[in-house]
Amino acid sequence: MLIREIGEFNLIERMSKALSSSGRNVIVGIGDDTAVLPFNGDKLQLVTTDMLIQDVHFRTTTATPEQIGWKSLAANISDIAAMGGEPTYAFISIGLPKTTTVEFVDKFYSGMNEIAKLYSVDIAGGDTVSSPQVIINIALLGEVNKDNLILRSGAEVGDAVMVTGDLGGSMAGLEILEHKLTFHDTEKHLKPIPRVNEGVLLARSGWVTSMIDVSDGLASEINHICKMSKTGASIQMKSIPLSQNVRQVSDIIGKNPYDFALFGGEDYELVFTCKPDKVQELKDMMDNEGNAEVTELGCIEDADKSVKIKDISGKIMQLSSKGYDHFV
Ligand code: ADP
Ligand code: MG
Repeated sequence: MLIREIGEFNLIERMSKALSSSGRNVIVGIGDDTAVLPFNGDKLQLVTTDMLIQDVHFRTTTATPEQIGWKSLAANISDIAAMGGEPTYAFISIGLPKTTTVEFVDKFYSGMNEIAKLYSVDIAGGDTVSSPQVIINIALLGEVNKDNLILRSGAEVGDAVMVTGDLGGSMAGLEILEHKLTFHDTEKHLKPIPRVNEGVLLARSGWVTSMIDVSDGLASEINHICKMSKTGASIQMKSIPLSQNVRQVSDIIGKNPYDFALFGGEDYELVFTCKPDKVQELKDMMDNEGNAEVTELGCIEDADKSVKIKDISGKIMQLSSKGYDHFV
């Protein structure tokens, strides 16, 4: 059997079943945005790692080395944010072709340092090897107070499904680059802003029951929350927040802007569920202090209702996890 026949998520599930345990306490292992391990006092240790390959996850023809550095670390910081935590230490492993210029590496590190400084991350080690193409692997540690940890698995029937900021901007940025629409905004694709402050505030509110970050697309993330929480969900397409940029770009290239949000991915916003009677209080709280706005998309339902979406015309459809699957 070929891995493309089962897809990335089934492959990870298959690998995780084959692992043995030493008996040590792993609070959360495979299956959430980060692993959660025992730490000291009231704190828990968060650990996440991600790999990026040239021409699969980035192109050196459309992204500058600074942007590649920024985005590599941003993706990991976002996973820490999705647990309600804050990032601490990073380990950077890079594979580089021998023909790579020193300037490329300098600029890559300058982009990474810029975001590291902004989020108080210390780069504490890594590895450097020769490779046929540029490969970047980042391992990032973080911390969260044990009372503020939010998992994918905590959603309950009746909870509101919500999201920070707006969606589809990264896909729009990619389309802008591919169609050379030079006068539009590519920032959300090239220099995404992980929602750490927002994640901490949401987690501390005590009203948020589950959370995940948008790496593969809204459709995929809602399916992950429902699978881990053993629930279904029902959302409305017209509630999905889109920026003006997403609407304009999708219009120019003749695509559905909601597809950017549902299946585009890499927006690094937070999708979360909130106790139904606390939605307004949560919105008011997030409106203060310059945080990203939060929007209600729908609600959590019984597992047998699966994941459904009501489209713009009012038709209700099944929403499957068609986020970007690396092997299909
Ligand atoms: P995210 O998109 O949030 O970064 P992933 O889809 O990459 O999450 O990973 C989902 C889960 O599977 C995580 O808990 C991750 O640690 C785990 N995982 C991914 N690949 C492997 C692997 N090769 N071996 C063990 N665990 C893995
Ligand atoms: Mg994630």
